[in-house]
Amino acid sequence: MTTTPLKTRFAPSPSGLLHLGNLRTALFNALLARSADGRFLLRIEDTDADRSEERYVDALQHDLQWLGLDWQEGPGAEAHSGPYRQSLREAMYQSLFQRLLSEGHAYHCFCSDDELKRARERQRAAGKPPRYAGTCAGIPREQAESRIEAGEPATLRFRVPPGKQIVFQDLVRGEQRFASNDLGDFIIRRADGSAAFLFCNAVDDSAMQVSQVLRGEDHLTNTPRQCLVLDAIGLPRPQWGHLPMILGEDGAPLSKRNGSRSVQELRDSGILPAALLNYLARLGHADNDHGLKDLQGLAATFRLDQIGRAPARYDEQQLLHWQELALRALSPDALQQWMQSAAVDLIPADRMVAFTELLAPNVRLFADVRRWARACFSAELAHDEATTAVFRDAGSPFFAAAADAADQDWAALTAVVQQQTGARGRGLFLPLRLALTGERHGPELAPLHAMMGPAMVRARFAQAAGLALSNQ
Ligand code: GLU
Repeated sequence: MTTTPLKTRFAPSPSGLLHLGNLRTALFNALLARSADGRFLLRIEDTDADRSEERYVDALQHDLQWLGLDWQEGPGAEAHSGPYRQSLREAMYQSLFQRLLSEGHAYHCFCSDDELKRARERQRAAGKPPRYAGTCAGIPREQAESRIEAGEPATLRFRVPPGKQIVFQDLVRGEQRFASNDLGDFIIRRADGSAAFLFCNAVDDSAMQVSQVLRGEDHLTNTPRQCLVLDAIGLPRPQWGHLPMILGEDGAPLSKRNGSRSVQELRDSGILPAALLNYLARLGHADNDHGLKDLQGLAATFRLDQIGRAPARYDEQQLLHWQELALRALSPDALQQWMQSAAVDLIPADRMVAFTELLAPNVRLFADVRRWARACFSAELAHDEATTAVFRDAGSPFFAAAADAADQDWAALTAVVQQQTGARGRGLFLPLRLALTGERHGPELAPLHAMMGPAMVRARFAQAAGLALSNQ
């Protein structure tokens, strides 16, 4: 007996960059496929020419590749079910439109946007849900076709059969039921002749033999319509699973305003693929294994029944937690490369190894690396008033003594300062640390001093000595 292998897909519209929300959808589909030795397909939904941009087509593929979310079918991985860009599949859609028309499942609609808007307003005022009133449903086909030939713009509407129950098993939410009478005839071809999202999305899933579709809950109301389209054409339905929304930290749907960032921005900030994948695999999906895992490991514990039904909440601190684990898991070479890509311009080449070893526990993002690189290597530090007050308390002779001892090792240097000023404990180490780095916390001072070298250390102490004399 042969069983059809499971096939999932990600079907982005190239109208923007990949961000946390749609990346999680891609990841869940990729994990579901991997968990069952199935296939993961990538389809570009670019029928809306006004909103689609080529740079987004490239960017989203680049982002998925960066994350290791390879597709077994899709652009660059052509198989029999392609092409994988909807703009290249128009001929198939058009022949299906003809079929639906000739079988009476679809009709031409000449209602203008204004007329539709007014009808909706009337329905709302009468307390009814807005749905297409069927104005053009009865126009005889020949009459409709001569109006089109005469140049009148028309959309194509799907004729929803009355009195039907549409039932499907949602992979996340269980059985879903909709009454066809609630739907209203919907547009499947726009006035410009292009296929509407709802139509080509459903037809392609079926034609590409996608067996499971995980997608955002915002598509749930499309699904009964898509069931009707597939049923009318005689195509099998995939199984859909609708994922709860992701909320921002403020409880509102995740958007730019409350924390959603594009994959590109996250990458540019230094977030590692492993951090992002491990975080998102647990965003709205329970995984009892709390260790950092690769895709295969994440797939091994991916279960549809562990997807929560309540909205998931984005938590930046959690992402940073995974980033810490991901950084710790890097090889020394990879860690050094990561540091280098953050601040190659700020770290002298001959200190790169020492800097990496010393500062790795103190950094999570590129901005941290840059901050520490400046702290260690920039000619002067910009000290704030609180730090200057610490310098004043320690006094100029304290730093003069430290500067004089700059070329001794750290133990000797601190011994000299202690001896000459009587400072000890925090009173000794805090002013020294602040003078060297401008930070109250950070790496051990002895290796830091060794890495910075005597000339830089002397300059830092001289700067602090000067500030210790400044007036408040
Ligand atoms: N192109 C649609 C979107 O980006 C796909 C929806 C779906 O996954 O079915 O929202």
